[in-house]
Amino acid sequence: MLTDSHTHLNAEQFNEDQDEMIQRALDAGVTRMVNVGFNRETIPSSIALAEKYDFIYSTVGWHPVDAIDMMPGDLGWIEELCKHEKVVAIGEIGLDYYWDKSPRDVQQRVFREQIQLARKLGMPIVIHNRDAHQDILHILKEEKAEEVGGIMHCFSGSWETAKQCLDMNFHISFGGPVTFKNAKQPKEVLAQVPLDRLLIETDAPYLTPHPFRGKRNESAYVRLVAETAAEIRGLTVDEIAEITTNNTIRLLGLK
Ligand SMILES: [Zn+2]
Ligand SMILES: [Zn+2]
Repeated sequence: MLTDSHTHLNAEQFNEDQDEMIQRALDAGVTRMVNVGFNRETIPSSIALAEKYDFIYSTVGWHPVDAIDMMPGDLGWIEELCKHEKVVAIGEIGLDYYWDKSPRDVQQRVFREQIQLARKLGMPIVIHNRDAHQDILHILKEEKAEEVGGIMHCFSGSWETAKQCLDMNFHISFGGPVTFKNAKQPKEVLAQVPLDRLLIETDAPYLTPHPFRGKRNESAYVRLVAETAAEIRGLTVDEIAEITTNNTIRLLGLK
């Protein structure tokens, strides 16, 4: 019973074989998938997927890379969609200082507005963080994100950063990069995260785990992340699957 806590099944990379790819995930033992809608195009298609399959859930939020495209009214749109029974979190939201499509001050404003919305609605948040550890922590603290908590998705920071996120009620989710041979820091953090805060994900079609690195990722490969986690924690893959599935169910209120 694996759960992929962060995937993009509605990405254009799956236009040709979406149903087959979802079936491969089921065949690999994936029982639940949390699909992330993150901008004007992917939010409606993510909700449509969650309506089509009972084992698929959706998040809705505005991604920092696309922050510049957020218009007045879009926050209200997200708020309205949060009432949908299959919408389980606000995200992915956060900061991305790698791509420079959206200026940092716009990213920070859009991030803050969505944390405020999450607190108003009592929804957990899914955090995207690329090259912005300090500003992410600062804004999460200032906006009192610990009231709702959520998921640090595809975590890539140090144990020091992880500890601060844990203190603010966040779960730490690991994806494909933790399977890479040279991923010393993610493996060190995975070794120390309390088991009741551990999640696994693919972020498919991106961040493909070893040994398929460089190819298209898909939710079936969450098993490869579970295998790495099992090895590091000295548990079986089934135990990791059960622990991470129960954590996701509890945090997001999945069936
Ligand atoms: Zn992300
Ligand atoms: Zn993502």
